Amino acid sequence: MNKDCIFCRIISGEIQSDILYQDEEVIAIRDINPQAPTHLLVLPRSHISSLADVGADQKQLLGHLVHVANELAKREGIADKGYRLVINCGVEAGQEVPHLHLHLLGGRSLGKLG
Ligand code: 5GP
Ligand code: ZN
Repeated sequence: MNKDCIFCRIISGEIQSDILYQDEEVIAIRDINPQAPTHLLVLPRSHISSLADVGADQKQLLGHLVHVANELAKREGIADKGYRLVINCGVEAGQEVPHLHLHLLGGRSLGKLG
């Protein structure tokens, strides 16, 4: 828990948010500023600042984030048409919130990465 981190404050319940999925390791919420009809965020409960800070002992956690996102894509009804998983890492990738999170985007044609 990092008291200055918006996602840690959501995870602790200090900031109210609709939690779409949760287990011991991760939670999923809807992005407050959606870039697609489905735009969810899957985040670990533990405060890891970025993808670059994921250690060798946390590889399983990354697989779990992807697995949960896949399951949520099915639940959102976008699994058949297609969806995109994105992790922004660092300034040039546009990471705004320094708490590791996976974006799940879908529900429209997403175009090529630019
Ligand atoms: P990043 O740019 O760091 O990869 O993505 C951060 C995402 O978090 C952005 O898409 C932004 O809209 C979302 N976000 C920022 N603050 C909040 C919040 O308080 N609640 C929710 N649900 N999403 C947030
Ligand atoms: Zn945090």
